[in-house]
Amino acid sequence: MSTTDQAICLRASDYSETSQVLTLLARQSGLVRLLGKGTKRPKSKSGGGMDLFSEGRAVFAGAGRGGLGTLMEFVEEDNHAPLRRDLARLHTGLYMLEATGSLLAEADPHPEVFDLLHNALVRLAQAEASPPPVLAYFQWRLLRHAGLLGDLSACQGCGKEPPKAGVIFSSAAGGLLCRSCAAGAKDRLAVPHQTLAALEVMRQVQAGRRLPLSDAHAKALNAVLAYHLQYQLGRHLRTARHALGR
Ligand SMILES: [Zn+2]
Repeated sequence: MSTTDQAICLRASDYSETSQVLTLLARQSGLVRLLGKGTKRPKSKSGGGMDLFSEGRAVFAGAGRGGLGTLMEFVEEDNHAPLRRDLARLHTGLYMLEATGSLLAEADPHPEVFDLLHNALVRLAQAEASPPPVLAYFQWRLLRHAGLLGDLSACQGCGKEPPKAGVIFSSAAGGLLCRSCAAGAKDRLAVPHQTLAALEVMRQVQAGRRLPLSDAHAKALNAVLAYHLQYQLGRHLRTARHALGR
């Protein structure tokens, strides 16, 4: 019994001279780990192996039981090639792949996350799109979808609107803490004014207003969201340093 699904390649490693172990995000099936027999053969469409970002129609079997399934066919429809021609876009895209692959459990379907990733990669490949805001929206929605991003307009301790100075972000507390509530925080990240301004923009956007997120605001927001994601995962993401530009 095989499954046919739209899929994006999140991870690829060599298994033998002709085969690869692939982690795909399939739209209906979720994260699947597959052995791609012969995917590295020169005559295969991807020519020398399936690449990260590769998106298309996958036919596979036996996935989602803890072990490796088998990729029977893959017809590439988009390889998001422009991402490879610009280092900032490439680093941002690789971080998106790693974040997605780290946050989702195997064989747990999340079509909204597939669509989110697809749209973010398409947007990121457009010359006029600046990577930091694309990443900020992506991280924001990914964390929201995972239920990890709550109300960021009030202090998680006292419920008051946080003041402009002395505010911290605590991943364990799930949001912002004012100076007096910050004392007992398990973890803390200083929240500069830029980040508070960025959060205000995101609140307005969520309320339905169309506001641009500047690169500076997006970078400040990305730092907090990436910190939160990695704290929740309990480990660092390999691609974070380059993607965040620090
Ligand atoms: Zn407080």
